[in-house]
Amino acid sequence: MTTVERTAAPADAAAAALPSAAAFIDGHWFDGTGGATHVHVNPATGQELGTWTLPSADDVDWAVRSAAQAQQDWIALRPSARRDLLLELGRQITEHADRLASLVTLEMGMPYRASKAATHAAAEWFRHYAGYADKIEGTVPSVLPASTGLDYTRHSPYGVVAAIIPWNGPVIALALKVAPALAAGNAVVLKPSELGPFSSLYFGSLVAAAGLPAGLVNVIPGGPDVGAALCAHPDVALITFTGGGAAGRSVSEAAAARHVPTVLELGGKSASIVFSDVDVPKTARLAAILGTAQNSGQGCFLPTRLLVERPIYDEVVESVVAAVGKVRLGDPFDAAVAMGPVVDEQACERILGVIRAAEERGDGRLVAGGRRADGALAAGCYVQPTVFVDVDPGSPLAQDEVFGPVLAIIPFDTEEEAVEIANGTRFGLAGYVWTRDLGRAHRVADALDAGYVSVNSLAALPPEAPFGGWKESGRGVEGGRDGLIEFLRVKNVHVQW
Ligand code: NAD
Repeated sequence: MTTVERTAAPADAAAAALPSAAAFIDGHWFDGTGGATHVHVNPATGQELGTWTLPSADDVDWAVRSAAQAQQDWIALRPSARRDLLLELGRQITEHADRLASLVTLEMGMPYRASKAATHAAAEWFRHYAGYADKIEGTVPSVLPASTGLDYTRHSPYGVVAAIIPWNGPVIALALKVAPALAAGNAVVLKPSELGPFSSLYFGSLVAAAGLPAGLVNVIPGGPDVGAALCAHPDVALITFTGGGAAGRSVSEAAAARHVPTVLELGGKSASIVFSDVDVPKTARLAAILGTAQNSGQGCFLPTRLLVERPIYDEVVESVVAAVGKVRLGDPFDAAVAMGPVVDEQACERILGVIRAAEERGDGRLVAGGRRADGALAAGCYVQPTVFVDVDPGSPLAQDEVFGPVLAIIPFDTEEEAVEIANGTRFGLAGYVWTRDLGRAHRVADALDAGYVSVNSLAALPPEAPFGGWKESGRGVEGGRDGLIEFLRVKNVHVQW
C-alpha cells in the first residue's frame, strides 16, 4: 500500500468538508491504493463530493496485524486506565458531535437533528461501557474443598474483533460494537460501508485524540471484498456484523469455516400492533412517522408493518395518511425537515421498484406517496413517504424488508390474530404494542417472536439494555452486560494442592 501520512485528522480540513484519507491504520491516515474506486455523491443534492480509492483486501492484513499488536498494549494497562481512556473517548465524541453528525448527514442523508442525537447516544455507549472496563469479574465454582484446592474462572478478551457496520446510522452502529469490544480488552478493525465511511474515519481521529494505543481501532472502509477478507483473516477471533441477511449469511459461512464466533444484527420487518383502547390520533401520528419518515425508513427495527384492530382501522388509516401528507421532506441540514433522502440513487430506484411491483401484484392499496419527489428535490434521492392499506400479510410487501419509507397497514380482529400476523415473517427483530391494557401488553410482549419489544414507545437502544434479533434477524445482542459478554471468553483454572 502506498501511504500518504497526514499531519492532522482528515476532517480538520474543514473547507474540504470530507476526509480525504481512505483508511486509518496503526494511528496513521492513508490514501487507499489497490481497492475499488468510490465516487461519493451527496444523496440530498446528487452532487459528486469526491473520489476515493478504497483500501484493498491486502490492506486488511496490515490492519489486523497492527490491531493484534495494539491489543497486547491495551490488555497490559490496568483496567482503571482502560476505563479512563474510554471515558475520554466518550468525551471526545461529545465535544466533536457537530462534526460527526454533519458527516453522517452528508454521507447518507439522515436529518442533522437525528444525526446529532445519535452521535450523543454513541458517546453515551462509550461512557456506559467504560464503566465495565474495571469490573470484569470471574467466579470461583465450588468444585473442590477449600483445603484441597481451588477452581476459578477468568473472562478474557478474544484479541482482534472484526466490526462490520452498515451505512444507515454509522456512528451509533460503531459505538454498539467498538465500546463493549474495547471495554472487554479487545482491539477492533472497523469496516464501515463504502457508502458511509467518513464519520467512521473521523471517529478514528477521536480515538487518537483520546490517547488510545495506535492500532487499537483501525478503520478500513470498503465494500464486500474488504469485509470478506477481514472475516477470513486467521487472526480475527470474533466477528460482529450488522447488515442485511445475504451478507450476514456470507459472514456466517466465513466464520463457520474457522469456527469463529459471531454476533449478527440483521434485517427486520417489525410489526406495530395497535389496539382500540389507545389515543388514536397520537398513536397514528407516531406510527406514520416511525413507519415512513424516520431515517427515510432505513432502520432495521422500525415498525414498517402497522397492525390495527378493526374498530379503529379506518380512523387510524385516515390519521396516518394525513400525518404522512404533512411530513416535510427535504434538505437534511434544514432543522424544519423531518425526512431526508435515501442513501443513494441505487436505493432510490430499488425502493421505487418495490413500490411498483407491490402495486402491480395488488399486495395492498397505495393511498399515499409512492413516487420520487420532484421539483426542487428532483436531483436528490428522495422517495415520498408511502402508505399501503389492506395489505395481504403473506404478500412480499408484508414479508420482505423494503429499507425505505414504505408502511404496510393490515387490519386484525383478535389479539391472537395480531400475534399470528406479527410472528408470520422470517424476521424477529423488534415488536411494538400499543394499548392501555397492562395485562394484554405483557401477554402480547411475551407472545411476540422478537428479541426486542417496546410497549407504547419506540425502541430507544439505551446502552444499559440488550438489543438483538431472533430468527433471521440475527444472533447475539448488543447492549448491557449481555452485550459485553459477547466479547469475552471463559477460561477455567483448576488448582489442586
Ligand atoms: P449490507 O448487508 O449490504 O452491508 C453491511 C456491511 O457488510 C457493509 O459494511 C458491507 O460492505 C459489508 N458486507 C457486504 N457483504 C459482505 C461480505 N460478504 N462479507 C463481509 N462483509 C460484507 O447492508 P447495508 O445495505 O449496509 O445495511 C442495510 C441492512 O442492515 C438492512 O438489512 C438492515 O436491516 C440491516 N441493519 C440491521 C441492524 C440491526 O441492529 N439488526 C441495524 C442496522 C442495519
